[in-house]
Amino acid sequence: MTDSPVKKPAHARNAVIVVALFCMLLMTTLFLYQGGFNRWESTSELLCCLTLLAAITFLALRCKQTEEALCRVQAQLAHVTRVTSLGELAASIAHEVNQPLAAITSSAQACRNWLTREEPDLIEVHQSLERIIASANRASEITRRVRALSHKCDPLRRDESLNDIVSEALSLVRCELAQHQISPEIELAVFDDLVSADRVQLQQVIINLIINACQAMDAVYASQRTLLIRTWVKDNEAVLEVTDQGPGIPVDVLPQLFTPFFTTKENGLGMGLSICRSIIDFHEGRIWATRANGQGSSFLFALPIRVANDPGYAAAI
Ligand code: ADP
Repeated sequence: MTDSPVKKPAHARNAVIVVALFCMLLMTTLFLYQGGFNRWESTSELLCCLTLLAAITFLALRCKQTEEALCRVQAQLAHVTRVTSLGELAASIAHEVNQPLAAITSSAQACRNWLTREEPDLIEVHQSLERIIASANRASEITRRVRALSHKCDPLRRDESLNDIVSEALSLVRCELAQHQISPEIELAVFDDLVSADRVQLQQVIINLIINACQAMDAVYASQRTLLIRTWVKDNEAVLEVTDQGPGIPVDVLPQLFTPFFTTKENGLGMGLSICRSIIDFHEGRIWATRANGQGSSFLFALPIRVANDPGYAAAI
């Protein structure tokens, strides 16, 4: 696996300072070389240029600072919405963890029964213990995923399989789908291509699209609620599509969907899709929505797939 950490802001700041110092040095050297110090006009021109350069550098650094502050606020907001969506999924996650715990209890009871027999059946005991271990691993895996989503950490992109990320996100929303009486159809195309992605951030996008689809389909009869989740690769991009059978998106709403604070929901914040867009932008991808044929809507994103001759690609597969 190769890590491609986010470009550190300090590097960009240092680059601005280095370029400015280099320009100043070059100007002063030229000035001295041409003997400009003998003429007052040249000296004052040099001073003007140096002052101008210093002012431009100062403004560039201020711009950089503002950009960094904006990035920090966006990251905090992304974290808050992630935690909010976890809150929405709380009942679902509790149910998801409860299943392996219940399985552990019944396997442990079975194990005890096999042991307390006159002639303990060690093969059955062994099998019960295996089931307990598998269920405990399942429970801790769910907890690990929830913790990863709730953690606040800097984005870290690695070579990942989009299908694996989709499957992991689906495991967190399975009960949510069941609660909304939605039967998902999952069509993940088989492909080996990897995308350079922050796993947690992409899961946030996918979970957000699925929750939105669930909420949209609350408005239609349970029998009509189908959710189609598909992935495929086309033109060097890995694409994910989430299609619902909800009421669809009115034409006048379509251009505003990804605008911050745009919401048509009574208790909506209107930040979900806007954060999805900034996450996909960060991944150098595209995200868009369409009105599905007939009823409903589709949300899609496309991410560039890693090119085989990229440094580190071979190590990642
Ligand atoms: P919120 O869910 O808080 O409203 P979002 O940014 O996630 O914020 O969504 C913005 C708006 O986009 C929603 O209020 C809704 O009008 C529209 N929208 C999002 N997903 C869908 C969907 N699957 N079907 C129809 N409209 C949708």
